[in-house]
Amino acid sequence: MDTGQLDLAHREERAARARSLAERMAAEQIAAVALTFVDTAGITRVKGVPLAAFEHAAAWGVGATPVFDAFGHDDSIAATPVANPTGDLRLLPDLDRVVALAAQPGWAWAPADRWTQEGEPHPGCARLLAARTVDRLAAAGLTARSAFEVEWVVYRDGEDGPEPAATGPAYGMTRLVELSDYGVDLLRALAAEGVDVRQFHPEYSPSQFELSVAPEAPVAAADTAVLVRATIRAVAARHGLTVSFAPSVADPGVGNGGHLHLSLSRDGHNVFAGGTGRFGLTPEAEAFTAGILRRLPALLAVGAPSVASYLRLLPSHWAGAYACWGRENREAAVRLVTGSQGEESTAANVEIKCMDQAANPYLLVAGLLAAGLAGLQENGTLPEPVHADPAGLSDDERARLAVERLPTDLATAAAAFETEQALTAAFGPSLTETLLAVRRAEADAFAGRTAAEIIDATRWRW
Ligand code: GLU
Ligand code: MG
Repeated sequence: MDTGQLDLAHREERAARARSLAERMAAEQIAAVALTFVDTAGITRVKGVPLAAFEHAAAWGVGATPVFDAFGHDDSIAATPVANPTGDLRLLPDLDRVVALAAQPGWAWAPADRWTQEGEPHPGCARLLAARTVDRLAAAGLTARSAFEVEWVVYRDGEDGPEPAATGPAYGMTRLVELSDYGVDLLRALAAEGVDVRQFHPEYSPSQFELSVAPEAPVAAADTAVLVRATIRAVAARHGLTVSFAPSVADPGVGNGGHLHLSLSRDGHNVFAGGTGRFGLTPEAEAFTAGILRRLPALLAVGAPSVASYLRLLPSHWAGAYACWGRENREAAVRLVTGSQGEESTAANVEIKCMDQAANPYLLVAGLLAAGLAGLQENGTLPEPVHADPAGLSDDERARLAVERLPTDLATAAAAFETEQALTAAFGPSLTETLLAVRRAEADAFAGRTAAEIIDATRWRW
């Protein structure tokens, strides 16, 4: 992936590649390409180009205002220096990830990076930030792999508005029967798009489903999260269904998580397995995980970025509301997955559970890797693992295990981010300022609103 400077030779090379891609797309009846990026509030924004304009877009980009960085989930614009109507950016498609959209015939998609008109990386580009953070990890000799889990609720039109499309029990085969054609069309579409789906199942909440995919390089995993959600939505639309990926869809209720799995390897060996530490962790895996664990309050400003996120992030909701870790503990914010005996070297990873899909997946990858890198620098160590639901422990026991409840509102998470140096340094001053302004604008906008009002305002946004 390009993260340096776009010079003329580079642009010519991109134009030539785009030309041959466009020929292939024309043969597949593709008429247009959707170039997407994800904004600070986690909304996927798009500019489409007809196929005839793809070559120019690949070389010179498509215009986009920097004001997008200040957008809230409701399209309001936070007052920040970037909310300035002058200036322009260029969206450049990643030519290695052009995918024909199976449920939107005639459309292809490519994730885009945002560059300045001078050919420099835009400091607010989340995808380029994620790529630079992966480069920092590579400089330390480490390669990360990650995967986002996607949870969503499916609705159909009822007499009083949208109602759950499936009525069967949690994890029940009944639900798969009820939405059989939808499910299989979705899996076919994702297979056609080259997405390596590992599992699809009905989840806990009414009409909720989950899909997990194979691990990839972190930026590719974030791209896949964008593609998978667009495909889930598009297949649903073809079945007359609507979907919600919002953190909270009912109060009370279990929400939609956006758990992120992460593993690291050095010289081809997974450092989360085969070590002498607890559950086979190497010191490196432990330090990396410790760097994330201690920064979770600040990371929530990235990974649980909506007021609605805190309606989901509740104890005993499998959302990981406590900062602690444990092997296969679904109530720990950091769940260590070792895999079965014999497959640890390929399976072992950590799952960060407290995050949701209002998060910009690129910012989340960047934040988690930056926190892990800081943990490596600090030679961090993990406290005792927790093997129970922390909500069920006494205050004394939680104190002994150093288990803390994560922030319960967005403003507290934003304040934690502001003083977390490893994250603000990685994100840079401009993106840090923008992120904080967007979070605080959302917290202010929702001050005093009820859970039901917050859910109504956010259900269909991501
Ligand atoms: N829906 C839960 C959440 O909000 C997660 C359920 C699970 O463990 O997969 O994160
Ligand atoms: Mg789940």
